[in-house]
Amino acid sequence: MKMLTRRTFIKSGLGLILIKPKKPYVFTLNGKMKTSHMGKTLIHEHFLVDFIGADKISFDRWNRDEVVQKVMPYLLEVKALGVKTILDCTPSFLGRDMALLKILTEKSGMNILTNTGYYGAVGYKFLPPWAFTDTPEQLAERWIDEAKNGIEGTGVKPGFMKIGVNGASLTDIEQKLIKAAALTHLATGLTICTHTGPAISAFEQIELLKKMGVAPNAFVWVHAQGEAKKHTYTQAAKMGAWVSLDGMGWGDWDNYANWIDILKDNNCLHRVLISHDAGWFDPAKPSGGEFKGYTPIFEKLIPALEKKGFMAKDIDQLLIKNPQEAFAIRVRKL
Ligand SMILES: [Zn+2]
Repeated sequence: MKMLTRRTFIKSGLGLILIKPKKPYVFTLNGKMKTSHMGKTLIHEHFLVDFIGADKISFDRWNRDEVVQKVMPYLLEVKALGVKTILDCTPSFLGRDMALLKILTEKSGMNILTNTGYYGAVGYKFLPPWAFTDTPEQLAERWIDEAKNGIEGTGVKPGFMKIGVNGASLTDIEQKLIKAAALTHLATGLTICTHTGPAISAFEQIELLKKMGVAPNAFVWVHAQGEAKKHTYTQAAKMGAWVSLDGMGWGDWDNYANWIDILKDNNCLHRVLISHDAGWFDPAKPSGGEFKGYTPIFEKLIPALEKKGFMAKDIDQLLIKNPQEAFAIRVRKL
């Protein structure tokens, strides 16, 4: 609450002038929203993912009504558990569908955030041809345009960046994606979420971002659970980066609880993000295939954390405070 009541006075020729600090905000499908309205937030979920590849994807590969029918019960289920905001992490060329997101927003009454950026994981299968030939500046220009003018003519602005790398030492094209993300961040203040996995790639990204003048707290190490050496979580968190333990839809809850407990013991709970990476309607499968719900955090993880002595304020830190801090749109220079 301190943030909201703080006032800054500056001296001028006319005496003291009151400067009201701008309240931190995000962009949802419905436009600009104060972060204080985010409430319980799931920072990494999916409604639809199409793995057909950038060369074959098109919006007519799925029927929106069918997708909505499939997704809605799961959204309402998690809304009933108090979740108010969901970040849809499906990037462009993997099924990011603004019309679908708009319908889901309206029908669920939840806050949905979408993303800009390109996903370079899975051997570049989801990169459009120009990602290979553009300079970092040209790529950034495309993403900045979405952030400033809206996505695909809808006027809807992305709430964050979602890019992806393959998890090993960064290749040239991956470095280009990171550089483009850095330039986009400096121009827009959007947080950079990179599908990453192993620590080696996370630390290389943090270093490259620093070289570009971007502070580590603008970077989310997505799928950190993919790293076996768990002490690297604390290392990254101490550097200021966000450690995203986001596979809660897929089991392993006691281990997740252990890792989060260790981060708390190391005073790093304020750098941890959690989510399910669950969902989703897959157009390649009959009726979209099997759908994973967004509830294990509430049914499995939180009880496991409570057994370790986590209090309500710790859970709120993970589900409310940290998402607000991680995704508030602001430039974070080194
Ligand atoms: Zn995901």
